[in-house]
Amino acid sequence: MARRQHVRTEPYGRPAAHAAIELRAVRRTYGRGGETVHALRGIDLSLDRGSFTAVMGPSGSGKSTFLQCAAGLDRPDAGEVHLGGEEITRLSENRLTKLRRSRIGFIFQSFNLLPSLTVQQNVLLPQRLAGERQDRARARELLAQVGLGEHGGRRPGQLSGGQQQRVAIARALITDPDVVFADEPTGALDTRTAHEVLGLLRRAVDTMGATVVMVTHDPVAASFADRAVFLADGALAGELYHPDPKAVADRMVTLAARPVGAAA
Ligand code: ADP
Repeated sequence: MARRQHVRTEPYGRPAAHAAIELRAVRRTYGRGGETVHALRGIDLSLDRGSFTAVMGPSGSGKSTFLQCAAGLDRPDAGEVHLGGEEITRLSENRLTKLRRSRIGFIFQSFNLLPSLTVQQNVLLPQRLAGERQDRARARELLAQVGLGEHGGRRPGQLSGGQQQRVAIARALITDPDVVFADEPTGALDTRTAHEVLGLLRRAVDTMGATVVMVTHDPVAASFADRAVFLADGALAGELYHPDPKAVADRMVTLAARPVGAAA
């Protein structure tokens, strides 16, 4: 799977220079009928290139808002998001759309493949939308790597859920993006299939130098990551490196028991 070599040339103590993505004091507030909801209360987080991070937290803790702001789908009210060293928060809508197409990969719980396109056309779609050359050889290579080398001519409807999610992984990797965001990527899959999909994400990180940020509520899914970061009430509420499922589950129970507002 080797493609991009990841070489760190600066000391580990110096932040940001090699971050795939960095959030600085990111805030997002929603107004709701005169009431203000602090969905993100000032998030500082730096994720290295070639890392696999799980974002966890109770329902309503801000995971979706985090993902939307980090991926340039939503704009923070304050703070900055740096993608591959470029500050993206103040880009025009046009530039942001272009940047998302070429420098971010997305994997969704519901796969989101286009049913009328073949598997290979789905994988090539980000390049097509970005106006880049469609690299068919690369698409075939990626499909082979996710175990679907023979399926490029099929339609998504002819594939199982797990196979569709593997197509989505290949699609997310085709542009060699700065970051792949995965939103509950195993939420619609059975346990065995989920493990296969998580193993593929792990391999993309280990062998291609991909950077994966995965929102999940599943402690076992999180254990495939290098690091689990926890959100509670819109703020970071701890992290675990090399998370094991039991430690993650314990942390989630503790967070769920916290009174609302405790993280503020
Ligand atoms: P999670 O993904 O962890 O469940 P969210 O990011 O969806 O959390 O939500 C964080 C908080 O922001 C919640 O209190 C939620 O109700 C609120 N929120 C999210 N989106 C909106 C919105 N579009 N309008 C108003 N409030 C919102």
